[in-house]
Amino acid sequence: MRKISRRKMLQLTALSAVGVVAAACAPQATPTAAPMPAATSAPAATAVPMPTATTAPMATATPAGPQVKPPIPYPDPNKIAVGGLEVKRQDINQIVAYKALPAYHQAPWLDAFVANKTIPPVEQRLPKEPQVYLTSGMSDGPGVYGDLWRGFSACPIAGYNNLAGTTMGWFGIESYTVRYGSLVKIGPLFRATQDIEPFPEVAKSWEWSADGTQLTMHLIEGAFWSDGVPFNADDVMFTWEGYIVDPNVNSPSKIDAWTWNGTATTLTKVDDNTVMFTFPIPKPLGKYYDMCDDRFFIEPAHILKSLHPKWSTKVPKPSYADFANALPPDHLPLVTLGPWVITEYHTDQLLIMRRNPYYWKVDENGNQLPYFDEIQYLKGPTGTGRDLCTMAGNCDHMNLENPSSFVQAMTAAADPNAKFGITWGPECLGYNVEFNFSVDVGTLSDSDKAYRQLYRDLRFRQALAYATDRDGIAQSIMRGPFLRAFAGGIYPGSPDFDKTSVVYYPYDATSARALLADMGLKDTDGDGILNFTSGPNAGQNVTIAVVASEDQHETQSVGEALVSQWAAVGIKVNYRVLNSSAIGDMNTSGNWDTQVVREGQVFMLPFLNPNALAPTTKTGFYQHKEGTTPRVLMDFEQSLIDIANKYALTFDAATRKQLITQYNQIFTQNVYMLGIFIGRYGLGISKRIKNIPPGTPAFDYEWVEDSVLLDQLWTPTDQQLKENRPNTLPVYKA
Ligand code: CA
Repeated sequence: MRKISRRKMLQLTALSAVGVVAAACAPQATPTAAPMPAATSAPAATAVPMPTATTAPMATATPAGPQVKPPIPYPDPNKIAVGGLEVKRQDINQIVAYKALPAYHQAPWLDAFVANKTIPPVEQRLPKEPQVYLTSGMSDGPGVYGDLWRGFSACPIAGYNNLAGTTMGWFGIESYTVRYGSLVKIGPLFRATQDIEPFPEVAKSWEWSADGTQLTMHLIEGAFWSDGVPFNADDVMFTWEGYIVDPNVNSPSKIDAWTWNGTATTLTKVDDNTVMFTFPIPKPLGKYYDMCDDRFFIEPAHILKSLHPKWSTKVPKPSYADFANALPPDHLPLVTLGPWVITEYHTDQLLIMRRNPYYWKVDENGNQLPYFDEIQYLKGPTGTGRDLCTMAGNCDHMNLENPSSFVQAMTAAADPNAKFGITWGPECLGYNVEFNFSVDVGTLSDSDKAYRQLYRDLRFRQALAYATDRDGIAQSIMRGPFLRAFAGGIYPGSPDFDKTSVVYYPYDATSARALLADMGLKDTDGDGILNFTSGPNAGQNVTIAVVASEDQHETQSVGEALVSQWAAVGIKVNYRVLNSSAIGDMNTSGNWDTQVVREGQVFMLPFLNPNALAPTTKTGFYQHKEGTTPRVLMDFEQSLIDIANKYALTFDAATRKQLITQYNQIFTQNVYMLGIFIGRYGLGISKRIKNIPPGTPAFDYEWVEDSVLLDQLWTPTDQQLKENRPNTLPVYKA
């Protein structure tokens, strides 16, 4: 689904991080002891398995096969001797509950607003049973009111009708104000004991019908929008009908995502506090993941319904473009269910949010949330501005995603006076070399087609794996324990990763040469580069095109290293760096051979997009697209497709893990993509902020803003900063 891609994650005091960097250039865990893949079909035998799965067009293999080193056990992660790495997993009901409490409290400065009747007393502003953040789920416990959170956004704000496709400025702005108002929440699942059932949010509970086709969801009762207007099921219905079902609205999630075999899901209002989904198939549990975040947060019908072309009574009716722009940047304050309300926006400079006095969550002591009074966003032209702002102590959060800048950030964090600390997430920052496996898509000549056959030959991919000093590349980018060799496939940081599934070919140029010779490649002209000895390229040097990305700096470090490492086994590399737009065009046309890629989250949490695991659709898996003629799948690819399709409809955690383990064995054995190195995303957060759960990743199920539970963060009183607009509430015009 959507932009699960690339960016940022855990905990490590800066000081110890730097110490570790200095000490940690030793080789990784010993590869001698671990057992070989128990779950697999014996890739661990003494010889590399022969390419049962390829067409091996150039093969002149001897019956015995080339003499190569066997795969070795994939090492354990480096030990990073720092605290705070462990995520404390809990049942969701140890973190949140819904219940009435004997007494409620509010930020003290709100008392004056109650006294002058601007707002009702706090107990009258809360739902019958507020959502309660339980003390057992807080890392630092219930907090105190006050302070402001300082964010940074590099994207302009086009307007606030975000679910109609209008950008609110990204960088978490949507999260702070509208996404904490979805039916459910998936971001905090990184610290739950399971990840099938989401966190409850506006839907406080739900149940499935006996046949599994109906899902009844119970909403919070008696809650209010930030302007004091009651919230109820009509708002959910308006969001469904006005955004997801209406094909004219540019919503990120459309009804086709809710359709099976031509039959769409329906949503009906049961009563003011209950809605019911009716699905064409039983229990499509993956749909929980589409009931939140940018796909489905609840919109205020009392504000937007009359502006929607379907319901507007104006003459002439507004257009859909009018609707998308219905809430322009200066149309403030915003009406929201979220913890904070955007009250001011100064283009390209500053955005301010103030607390929503009707927010429907409390802590276990009955204190209405959030604790922070204010959110401030500085605006700037580039995303690196956020890192600089955080390192300078003027912003409260950054995501670290470029390993070449990790040392600078860690060094800055190591300063005893640094205002921020860095935590490091699980190993899910993975770089691969991808191959184009199509026999025809994007090929311009018979020569091109012969190169595609090369990539389809397992021996060639294995040879490149043996020829690549992955740990050497990782250490050249950043010395120390943070980066290490990666076999490709499922990230070692994934909950579904089983290291015994990894078929890992060690760095051994002799094995690479043996495999290439076995393919009939030979340096016939003595220039050090192997030549084709048959086919349309007979007599020519083997020269493969490698593309790296201008935007992703470390793909270039990898590409440059491959030029020399592959030359050492007789493969010439034609290396180019392209910008993201050119790479997009290249992937659309299919006119490419190999590319270095920072992979997305599908290898972390495969259920987020099972179609990205294998070519299950015609063009969705760009490494092997189908063109005008039927696609020629390699045998092992069909196995991967079968697994991906089965996985998409499997919701039993143990079975899912089993499927992914099987997938990963086939993937790595066949070097479907050539893994290069794996690292961690870093999360930089101001030290004064409490209740950041240990091990919070910058990105996992969602970006940090949707996983950290912003509305329960707090700052000790003596460390609180001056607010821009102290003691003010959003004021709505009548
Ligand atoms: Ca040659």
